[in-house]
Amino acid sequence: GIWLNSSFPHNSSKDMYNITSIRSEFPILSRQVYGKPLIYLDNGATTQKPLCVLDAMRHEYLNANANVHRGVHYLSQKATDLHEAARTTVRKFINAQSDNEIIFTRGTTEGINLIASSFCEGFMQPGDEVIISTMEHHSNIVPWQLMAARHGIAIRVIPMDDNGELILDEMDQLFTSRTKLVSVMQVSNVLGTVNPIKEIVRRAHLHGVPVLVDGAQSVPHFKVDVQDLDCDFFTFSGHKAYGPTGVGVVYGKEEWLEKLPPYQGGGEMIATVSFEKTTFAELPFKFEAGTPDYVATHGLATALDFLSSLGMDNIQRHEQELTRYATEQLKTIDGMRIFGHSIDKDAVISFLVGDIHHLDMGTLLDRLGIAVRTGHHCAQPLMARLGISGTVRASFGLYNTREEVDAFVAGVRRVSAMF
Ligand code: PLP
Repeated sequence: GIWLNSSFPHNSSKDMYNITSIRSEFPILSRQVYGKPLIYLDNGATTQKPLCVLDAMRHEYLNANANVHRGVHYLSQKATDLHEAARTTVRKFINAQSDNEIIFTRGTTEGINLIASSFCEGFMQPGDEVIISTMEHHSNIVPWQLMAARHGIAIRVIPMDDNGELILDEMDQLFTSRTKLVSVMQVSNVLGTVNPIKEIVRRAHLHGVPVLVDGAQSVPHFKVDVQDLDCDFFTFSGHKAYGPTGVGVVYGKEEWLEKLPPYQGGGEMIATVSFEKTTFAELPFKFEAGTPDYVATHGLATALDFLSSLGMDNIQRHEQELTRYATEQLKTIDGMRIFGHSIDKDAVISFLVGDIHHLDMGTLLDRLGIAVRTGHHCAQPLMARLGISGTVRASFGLYNTREEVDAFVAGVRRVSAMF
């Protein structure tokens, strides 16, 4: 029927990772910048969108646009069906137990703010403590600082070793009777370190402390199973996982979400309202005040289906090969310093060459058509730990190729020779 999306025509068998056909789903990759073929290596910041996502969203606006959960009418029902189907797709993608555990947000940042705000209000007293880590993105630091200012909570920080790995034995020392929550990233957006979340969760649970995981940089790259991790909360952004901007997800174990107070108040999240007393809606709606971006949720579900059709294991294998190859090649350049040597490392390479400023390197690479990110990557405390002001960062996506890595490395070599 007209509500069906065009489904992406790949199966997920190992040999079917056909990069040419995958790239044809992303027309923007064929464009040129400054007369040079675009080489997009800024996937950690955001990913490009496949046609199937754009088509799904256009199709919904053209055929099923109406506000969700509100109308008795046909279109509203269709839009609601797509929105709730998206919730189920997300639930399956991260292997949550129930659709009630999937809250739609604007992204990872809003997800962390939601949990920080509701958790502090519901479960923290002045003097209680949250544990984060040295390598966190600002979005997993600043919300806790706001809570510290408003509620008098304290922040403890897991240290990191010189390989860019968290020191778990030192984490163990941070737990006190006041520790109420651990909040850590699964993959570092700077170092690529894949943190041992399962082990962190196990240790935190020994102290009876729940764990929030920032999955912004993990969900796009490998299979995430929230039940296997046994984390209590998990959040990610749609736009870093080939979905649209403006939509993200918070997962929470149902027992926790039931207990947490609402984040924002408004329509959609209530059962009854009078001026004397308001009762809140059931999960997940309790945490979804206002009209959600229901077209974006459909777009996100389409992106996740696209990833599933390729196979997360195939994507991971492809990206790890690229990362390994790029690392080896970059190391042949004089003065190359790569940050982050974790054994378990994801599709991110941060580096500096000699004393060339990261901004100069990034600007000159840009002129060669190569898109990288430069600067502190929203992780200034990590930069301070590394003793630098910023890095150049190449981050790979499912559509990048070995030829692009070759061009990138040649570009870095050429720029380096200019100084
Ligand atoms: N956490 C990590 C590790 C990230 O890399 C990012 C994005 O840069 C975020 C959180 C914030 O994501 P968003 O801006 O989509 O909310």
